[in-house]
Amino acid sequence: MLIVDSDVLLVERRLRTGELLCPSCGAVLAPWGHGRPREIRGDLGVRRFVRPRRSRCTGCQVTHVLLPEALWPRQLDAAEVIGVGLEIAALGMGHRQVAAHLGRADDTVRGWIRRFRRRSEDIRRYFTVALVALADDPVMPKSAASPLSDAVSVIAAAHRAAAMKWPEMNTVSPWAFAGRVIGGRVLTCTSSAS
Ligand SMILES: [Zn+2]
Repeated sequence: MLIVDSDVLLVERRLRTGELLCPSCGAVLAPWGHGRPREIRGDLGVRRFVRPRRSRCTGCQVTHVLLPEALWPRQLDAAEVIGVGLEIAALGMGHRQVAAHLGRADDTVRGWIRRFRRRSEDIRRYFTVALVALADDPVMPKSAASPLSDAVSVIAAAHRAAAMKWPEMNTVSPWAFAGRVIGGRVLTCTSSAS
């Protein structure tokens, strides 16, 4: 799986001009049909369907689904919605309050928070390295109340640094940015997706 821009036409053009490279071996990816349709549940109950493009490596022959960065593997809800939930949780609210705020089921939100909490130390470390690499004068976020809050803060700081360096990053949300940087592994440590 490869996390790509949410702009379908842009991705198609990149795929057809050989600009997308295999995450395993670095060879050029070629078009290879489509993955199964997936539903994205956005903000305010908006639902839409996407059929992620599939690609096949011209080097190692492995197929890779091109997942738009608006989605994370195995999640129905848009990255943005989950990200906002994590930001609210970082303020110290429990999963029920977050769920009520977003209009999502308690269990769903509890799952996001639990998974992100498990990933938070790795994420904090990874995005701290990214922040140092991106910023000319990196300012480390102060350690917050919990590892979850620290992870949320450092993603935001790395995104700000990326937007300073590349202004087009301003149009990419911090959560889409996070997915792009770590190959969608925000809630899970593997990136496998069908
Ligand atoms: Zn390859």
